[in-house]
Amino acid sequence: MQIAIDGPAGAGKSTVAKAVAKRLGLFYLDTGAMYRVVAYKALNNKVNIQAEEEVERLAAETTVRFNHAQGDRVWCDGEDVTEKIRTPEVSRAVSVIAAYSKVRERLVAWQREEAKQGDVVMDGRDIGTQVLPQAELKIFLTASAEERAQRRWLELKAAGQEIPLIEIAKDMERRDRQDRERAVSPLKPAPDAVILDTTGLTVEQVISKIVTMAQEERR
Ligand code: C5P
Repeated sequence: MQIAIDGPAGAGKSTVAKAVAKRLGLFYLDTGAMYRVVAYKALNNKVNIQAEEEVERLAAETTVRFNHAQGDRVWCDGEDVTEKIRTPEVSRAVSVIAAYSKVRERLVAWQREEAKQGDVVMDGRDIGTQVLPQAELKIFLTASAEERAQRRWLELKAAGQEIPLIEIAKDMERRDRQDRERAVSPLKPAPDAVILDTTGLTVEQVISKIVTMAQEERR
């Protein structure tokens, strides 16, 4: 079984996808983390993120690994970058590099390869439309802009990063616009996706809804 979960920033995709995967015994792949790794490496290596060819070259030389056994750690070329890819600087740069077609080609090929390992829940922006168009269940997760910013603020606060809510809301809005308006694989629901507005719902309610849909799909 393949489950695709797409949606804008802060809609709760990774929290929900992770829990759904655990309950159904599927493996989980966070595709956003892969784009973040490339953005992090570009910033770290002082590569101009506007220089498309340089970023594409860098992406071609980058390996991303996940260690699910150790609490979903993310590795870039042998370095544990789990926390480093979640900074506001990386969040600002990531949508720029995610619009480059060769960066996407490389990461999408890798994501499809990973999906061959078995039943999977994948979250991102183009999973239902591009990466796994054959997925049995496609969810497009949304929530109001205010609630998404609030959730991200709480998440960052819990991780020790105190960033003003207004700044988070602005960054999120810019990133979503870039993701929606890019020419290659823009953020949009697949025609056969279930649109799930999670405004006012608890995480548990969202998880149960998706688990129920997946179980019905399996029957
Ligand atoms: O999911 P997350 O917010 O960590 O993703 C970071 C960024 O990576 C997104 O804003 C988007 O620009 C890019 N992305 C993408 N396609 C995916 C996953 C993420 O373009 N499948």
